[in-house]
Amino acid sequence: MQVALVTVGDEILAGDTVNTNAAWLGRELAERGVDVERTTVVPDRVEDIAGVVRDYHTGYDAVIVTGGLGPTHDDVTMEGVAAAFDRDVVESEEALRWLEEDGYSRDDLTEGTGDVPEGARVLPNREGVAPGCVVEDCYVLPGVPDEMKRMFEDVDEEFAGEVRHVAVVEADEPESALLDRLRELRERFPVTVGSYPGDSVSVKIQGTDAEAVEEAAAWLDERVE
Ligand code: ATP
Ligand code: MG
Repeated sequence: MQVALVTVGDEILAGDTVNTNAAWLGRELAERGVDVERTTVVPDRVEDIAGVVRDYHTGYDAVIVTGGLGPTHDDVTMEGVAAAFDRDVVESEEALRWLEEDGYSRDDLTEGTGDVPEGARVLPNREGVAPGCVVEDCYVLPGVPDEMKRMFEDVDEEFAGEVRHVAVVEADEPESALLDRLRELRERFPVTVGSYPGDSVSVKIQGTDAEAVEEAAAWLDERVE
């Protein structure tokens, strides 16, 4: 399963907010064997959201959008996603009923709080107010990290892939010195290899065959300092 992430928010582009939502979703999806193939940050602008959602919807099995929910003037994600699928935004009776059960009175809710694209499956916000939704494999989640995580838990079973096994080998050598061994590693074993320099070089070995990953890690471990 291949997924694209879209995080919405001027504040992320400006660097005021670190995109922890994309990092968290990336890890959660990778653990489930789902490939995150794109992460894109777009401004709070309807055309930009609509454009990227439309593109990614045709290219990937699912799109996850976070941020820009709710009725304030800069929250335009529902409108953007609706436009991507040529739908109108409508007030969801289901969302309003959930909010009422949660203790909110309809009259006190800001207009637009229960709005979602027409025909969407509504996702209740168990940590906040503004609902999320699913439209044609596009999952719309809140920007507030705790709200986003809680809502993702309600749909996480819809994200599944072939589970990958991972092994990490630390090499206390310059990355450039490792190139021949990393090439040989890839030739010998059915695994993918990532090399991440820091204080030492972390070599991340991944594959769907647990035994191959283990053997590859042992092979490399014997050949690095
Ligand atoms: P609300 O329903 O409360 O309006 P929202 O879905 O509209 O939430 P935003 O208005 O986009 O969310 O963002 C609310 C806050 O959540 C931001 O101020 C920011 O601190 C945080 N946030 C938004 N997007 C991200 C992100 N990608 N990574 C981390 N934090 C984020
Ligand atoms: Mg908001």
